[in-house]
Amino acid sequence: MDKGYFENLLGKIIATVTVSSEDPAADRSNSPLLDLLEQEAGALGGICRRQKVTAARNKENLLIRLGPDLPGGLLLSGHTDTVPCDPELWHTDPFTLAEDQMNYYGLGVIDMKGFFAHVLTAFREAYQAGDLKKPLHILATADEETTMAGAAFFADHASIAPEAVLIGEPTSLVPVFRHKGYMAYRVEVEGKTGHSSDPEAGLNAIGIVSGIITALTDLAEDLKKNFRDSSFRVDHPTLNLGSIRGGDAPNRICAHCELVLDMRPAGEATPEVLDHLLRERVALGAGEHRDRIRVTELYPPIPPFNGSADNDLVIRTEELSGRKASAVNYSTEASYLSRLGVPAVVCGAGDIAHAHQADEKLPKKEIPEYRRILQDLIREYCLR
Ligand SMILES: [Zn+2]
Repeated sequence: MDKGYFENLLGKIIATVTVSSEDPAADRSNSPLLDLLEQEAGALGGICRRQKVTAARNKENLLIRLGPDLPGGLLLSGHTDTVPCDPELWHTDPFTLAEDQMNYYGLGVIDMKGFFAHVLTAFREAYQAGDLKKPLHILATADEETTMAGAAFFADHASIAPEAVLIGEPTSLVPVFRHKGYMAYRVEVEGKTGHSSDPEAGLNAIGIVSGIITALTDLAEDLKKNFRDSSFRVDHPTLNLGSIRGGDAPNRICAHCELVLDMRPAGEATPEVLDHLLRERVALGAGEHRDRIRVTELYPPIPPFNGSADNDLVIRTEELSGRKASAVNYSTEASYLSRLGVPAVVCGAGDIAHAHQADEKLPKKEIPEYRRILQDLIREYCLR
């Protein structure tokens, strides 16, 4: 096993800081990591192309092609950014690769820029660019952890036509063929303040919100009844009331109240369907005061990934990993990359439970297994 190359490259990747943050002071460009990947892939015969992502600040996607410029082949995709971290909670420096007998540690080691070390090592160990009959594309996207702008932009401007797509987010090597999306909203209610000694002289925003909460609790129940999907552990689209704020004193009529909530679309409960249902029920709950309500999206909605388990890619990945394909409740860039209209699967080393946590770790025993999966998929899609 080519441990020296893998470990060395993983170390360089972890040391290249690519934190994405809504806070501009903490947000970093991913360009230094793209420079590194270009250099490593270039040495293997890769042709590299950058794509400026208009919605992202100072960030780009990188598309690498190994092998001929033809339709077909395989796309291996990962995001280049990481979440911010609290170094004081870590036992080692998050930006220096560390290891013990069982694991490697570092920010992004599984979520997920470490993926590029797996991919380039898998390729380098088994193949040369001249061996390939169909292209192997490697996509490194910008800004997954905040807006998913990189993958969305790539999918909308796709210039390649692979036969299959693998996204290397950490799944403990389980092939994931389906996942939920994500939407978040703020519901604001404007009442009218006044002295509490005469409640009817004003309009209590908390009172209006209580009607909205009842309507939304009913909606959550309806989603459970009407959109059941047994491939998920939580087998329906969800609605969660996340926070509520309103009023300032016991002796004043509450003039402003707001509710923040999220929904996880799945299957036929698309973001469009849920958006419509949400607005309809909020209006119903507010009754005669519906003109005092404002509903706004907190982020652009992430659609669900509605893949299927019975295509060649998922079946082959199941055989190679020896693990049964499943559906999960978190979201990935598969929501966008599946728009290429070909089978997609999410499968990567490391446990999602260790992503976005201190001491993020990659179990060493999954490394050779994952390498074999990647090598076999490359053979399947690019050498035949
Ligand atoms: Zn990720």
